[in-house]
Amino acid sequence: MSGTVVLGAGLGGLSFAHYYLKRFPKETVTILEASERVGGWMRSIKKNGLIIEKGPRSIRPRGLPGANTLQLVQDLALSEQIVAIPSNHPAALNRMIYVNGELHRLPNNVMSLFKKQPPFSQPLYKYLLNFLTSATKPIPENDESIYSFVNRKFGIEVADYLISPLICGICAGDAKEISVRFLMDSLFEKDQRHGTMLQAFVIDGLSSFGKKGEDVPKSDLYQKAAKEKWSIFSFKDGIEVLPQGLERWLKKEQRCSIVLNKQCKQLELSKNAAKVTLSDKSEIRAKHVVSSLPASKIGNLVKKQYPILGDLLNSIPTVTVAVVNLEYDKKLPIKPGFGFLVPPKENLPILGVIFDSCCFEHYPNEFENRTLLTVMLGGRWYDKYFDRSSGDEEILNITFKHLATILNVKERPVFADVSVLENCIPQYIVGHVKQVKEIRKFVHEHDLPLSLCGSSYDGVGINDVILSAKNAVERGSG
Ligand SMILES: Cc1cc2nc3c(=O)[nH]c(=O)nc-3n(C[C@H](O)[C@H](O)[C@H](O)COP(=O)(O)OP(=O)(O)OC[C@H]3O[C@@H](n4cnc5c(N)ncnc54)[C@H](O)[C@@H]3O)c2cc1C
Repeated sequence: MSGTVVLGAGLGGLSFAHYYLKRFPKETVTILEASERVGGWMRSIKKNGLIIEKGPRSIRPRGLPGANTLQLVQDLALSEQIVAIPSNHPAALNRMIYVNGELHRLPNNVMSLFKKQPPFSQPLYKYLLNFLTSATKPIPENDESIYSFVNRKFGIEVADYLISPLICGICAGDAKEISVRFLMDSLFEKDQRHGTMLQAFVIDGLSSFGKKGEDVPKSDLYQKAAKEKWSIFSFKDGIEVLPQGLERWLKKEQRCSIVLNKQCKQLELSKNAAKVTLSDKSEIRAKHVVSSLPASKIGNLVKKQYPILGDLLNSIPTVTVAVVNLEYDKKLPIKPGFGFLVPPKENLPILGVIFDSCCFEHYPNEFENRTLLTVMLGGRWYDKYFDRSSGDEEILNITFKHLATILNVKERPVFADVSVLENCIPQYIVGHVKQVKEIRKFVHEHDLPLSLCGSSYDGVGINDVILSAKNAVERGSG
């Protein structure tokens, strides 16, 4: 019988194996990966000296999850590879939204809160006052959409022009469906516990006075990030350096085998053992199975044996995103910045555009006469604007049309690449936290040798996935 079998060699599966082998020095791990490579959605392609990111591209160094990632990066000896954007860099300061036919820079300092800045009809401090002083309202089921919370506490313009595009940028989702607990868990808790936010901050502030803050791992890299005020970071050779670093570490360990091109087709779980059936019909018996697959995939694998668990897992939806990478052989006249997001209210197929050549200077000289853009399309609205048979050409034509209108970019790129990432981002819709609790409760109550990690449960970003894998090792099962 094999020791622990991990399904999926994306960031979640690789991180789980790393923490597991560190925690249990005598155990072994087998990672089964359906595709021909490790890394899952994290894929960086080198082309003519440029880095083309096909999925994620940046990591935030903040909070416990950020500090944990920095610790991992340091442990994997990847610190020297980092490229960081400090908080005073144009890409950190200038983030825009496209509203009513115009690009608007989002407020980025305290002074800008006191100016009326379109598309907002009043200075932002007025929304902040509303947030602090508006009376709370008890919310049934202890959850609501993030749009409804922000509308209730700040006002509709903040919900439409700040939160809705932000949710598009983070998970390509609809703020009217995404749970407030996805991003604003502690604010929502404060709101429900106290009369107003002002009371909440005063009371919670007084009760935590003198108490130790969050215990974050303060690696040398964490201290460097804090000292240099990193806003986001990546790696010289692209974001894929991180899963590749994990793969190298695991291979050196010798207690881990990574088996590529092996898809798990069937899973049978009993009290102390599991049987994994692979695409080539071979079988592996394991003490414990760890799924880092999207919830619906593991849901389908367990559904026959445990229909309730299968249904619970299948009810975590995902969205599809088209990623279009474009290279122009000239410097386009775009404002330096991270890029822009498009609020769903604008009814456009574009979720946002990243000005890659203004962000990470992987190769600073390369961008003197070139521009690199990444356009993200579809997400929660993929089926509204595209059909599943939409080819690259159709997606490209739609992209060019909107870039011409929004950025006045009429020329064609010298390089264009389209990838449709099917079901790539889980959606933490209202009720998600309760749903995940139910899933873990089911696994515990039935004593199943199963752990769940990856982006479907405890956060969709890179930091969350790494921390979720670490916590799954500590939890043991569920
Ligand atoms: C377009 C896009 C942009 C993003 N941008 C950012 C960003 O800038 N910053 C950030 O922090 N996060 C970002 N994210 C999120 C980040 O990419 C994810 O959190 C992370 O990659 C998820 O890793 P995972 O291991 O959970 O899943 P995956 O990457 O999906 O890995 C799962 C693995 O399981 C394999 N698999 C599937 N089925 C089977 C099976 N039956 N048997 C065996 N193997 C199987 C798959 O091939 C895959 O390798 C972005 C995501 C996307 C899609």
